[in-house]
Amino acid sequence: MGLVPTMGALHAGHGSLMSASVKQCDATFATIFLNPTQFAAGEDLTRYPRTLDADLDLCRSLGVTGVLVPGVDEVYPPGFSTSVKPPDVATDLEGRCRPDHFGGVATVVLKLFQMLPTTHAFFGRKDYQQWRVIEHMVRDLNIALKIVGCRIIRDPDGLALSSRNVFLSTDQRKRALALPGALGLISEAIKSGQTEVAALEAMMKLRLDSDVDTVEYAVVRRANDLGKIAFVEGDVVALVAARVGATRLIDNMEMTC
Ligand code: AMP
Repeated sequence: MGLVPTMGALHAGHGSLMSASVKQCDATFATIFLNPTQFAAGEDLTRYPRTLDADLDLCRSLGVTGVLVPGVDEVYPPGFSTSVKPPDVATDLEGRCRPDHFGGVATVVLKLFQMLPTTHAFFGRKDYQQWRVIEHMVRDLNIALKIVGCRIIRDPDGLALSSRNVFLSTDQRKRALALPGALGLISEAIKSGQTEVAALEAMMKLRLDSDVDTVEYAVVRRANDLGKIAFVEGDVVALVAARVGATRLIDNMEMTC
């Protein structure tokens, strides 16, 4: 049995996780839950797109067996007070920019695992750090299921699909291409022999600065624990987070050097 947790406003990225589960598992369950505890005050919870009818149509068309759409009170009944302290891999990057985010994510994901026990759970590597957080939590807490990390689905021009892309104006969408652009730039630099992480990070920052409004981070890290490295070697991942207008976007690229 496969589980695909989502917050709704589904697109082909979510669809790819469902298709992977339908292919690998006898039954696939999706969840649609816009989890309030992973949004800080002032983040985009209230304006997050809600498209339940279309979401259910997509699930149906992909052969999903069932969809759980719990209410906030079902997930967090009165008196709820237990939570997961996320693993160390949650501390930096998204964890630094959004301090309570991964605590909210880890807690709700563990709850969804309990509400709908399955053998496999599918996550997108679009949210690379989140995928690692869940992997580490599952390992550390002996949770008996397999985490499957699925590749990033992109629009033909390279922009990673995201429920938040609908907020981008035509101009902002063009400027958002700086995220995959910065990642592509260092991929080429690495192929040409550049191995110094500081230089690669500076290159990404410069490319992003020319088009986005704020760069939150642009880093190259060890893949498995997102630890800092001085030179690229083995499995590494470049991760970027930036604001274009009021919209916060993230992207990443995995490389084996
Ligand atoms: P969300 O609804 O944003 O919480 O995303 C639900 C799941 O879909 C997460 O595991 C995401 O990583 C995954 N996901 C979102 N966008 C993409 C994408 N463009 N490619 C692959 N997976 C994605």
